[in-house]
Amino acid sequence: MLDKVVIANRGEIALRILRACRELGIATVAVHSEADRDLKHVRLADESVCIGPASSTESYLNIPAIISAAEVCDATAIHPGYGFLSENADFAERVESSGFKFIGPRPETIRLMGDKITAIEAMKEAGVPTVPGSDGPLDDDKERTLRLAREIGYPVIIKAAGGGGGRGMRVVHSEAALLNAVSLTKSEAAAAFGNDTVYMEKFLENPRHVEFQVLADEHGNAIHLAERDCSMQRRHQKVVEEAPAPGISEELRAKMGERCAEACRRIGYRGAGTFEFLYENGEFYFIEMNTRVQVEHPVTEMITGVDIVKEQLLIAAGQPLTYRQEDIVVRGHAIECRINAEDPENFMPSPGDITRLHVPGGPGVRVDTHIYSGYRVPPYYDSMIGKLITHGENRDVAIARMRGALSEMVIEGIKTNIPLQADIMADGNFAAGGVNIHYLEKKLGL
Ligand code: ADP
Repeated sequence: MLDKVVIANRGEIALRILRACRELGIATVAVHSEADRDLKHVRLADESVCIGPASSTESYLNIPAIISAAEVCDATAIHPGYGFLSENADFAERVESSGFKFIGPRPETIRLMGDKITAIEAMKEAGVPTVPGSDGPLDDDKERTLRLAREIGYPVIIKAAGGGGGRGMRVVHSEAALLNAVSLTKSEAAAAFGNDTVYMEKFLENPRHVEFQVLADEHGNAIHLAERDCSMQRRHQKVVEEAPAPGISEELRAKMGERCAEACRRIGYRGAGTFEFLYENGEFYFIEMNTRVQVEHPVTEMITGVDIVKEQLLIAAGQPLTYRQEDIVVRGHAIECRINAEDPENFMPSPGDITRLHVPGGPGVRVDTHIYSGYRVPPYYDSMIGKLITHGENRDVAIARMRGALSEMVIEGIKTNIPLQADIMADGNFAAGGVNIHYLEKKLGL
């Protein structure tokens, strides 16, 4: 087993990792910024090290500071959580070359999947369906670019190979706008990601976002844990997630899930990961792989009973997967509402003191959060302060439980998006299931 793990993250995921470590008898080191001394997991960890000032570039993204903390505390492994350094291949490399285990895939795999063009190539080879597109970078040959777009058919989307976080993309509706759009995306990509490589894909007009969770060990075993639907988004940010995805048959789940697991075996994947797809008219189109644990992992845990973070730790310890594919059974339905410290009307962040907190409970209710009464939400980081997750024997029960849980939840002192989540849970089209990725923005009149 791993003896001691450095938790290189903050907030609810840091607490989630701490809980999994405790359950396995692994000692924990919380590395935190000056602004985060009062985080719940910092208080609960066996050891804690302040690695820098509030600004994430000087703390949570400060690779030398994190590695020295691991050295000073004599740790065995580093868990990067999500965001921050979790998909940074250079960090993973530094962690491993310093003699620690990186709790995630090998650095080469992160690099392969971090470049969208090489990721798509690898998926095609593994038989995972992708979006019709340029199959590689666009070059300076303008005639070729125009021809490719004609063959694919408008609208098309120009995407940066190194893009992320919903940035570095441009939709083009007509030939007249194409070449200009390509050069604009190229220069933006160069500035934002230090890589001006762009490629072209068919722009799918009304897709859903459906993703498959996978687990793979160092012994060549890989399984899938079914899919999640994360179509309820605002500005490419997920707001509500659920598992399984409405309307996906068991046969389709088994077929797509196995393709993802097979892709993991082929690329020698290690750890937890997610294959993200756009889903339209019954077809899946791969868009990218996330090589880390995701915010929405709890909905999968609720329907499968698998503790994904614990599996990450066991895999990093070199153990074979606890489960075989036939052990994975989908039971009922789970929904997650992200709780953000923000104004529900205009989405402005709302940091500050939490003066009163009541957390919901009851059958099938799970709350993953680091906040407590008296905690001050700092203004420096992402506004997500927790996740409310409900599970029920079917989707209607999960939604009913979520409505109840949202109405029980009281957070005073700051504004939160709970009213928005309550609106979504009362929405007839959401209740029917299967809305597309544009639904929420349309509903909000954006
Ligand atoms: P990022 O790494 O920035 O998150 P993705 O490739 O995952 O980029 O795309 C982010 C979002 O952009 C998708 O969830 C989808 O809403 C939209 N998108 C990306 N590619 C396409 C496409 N080919 N057609 C339609 N929408 C797309």
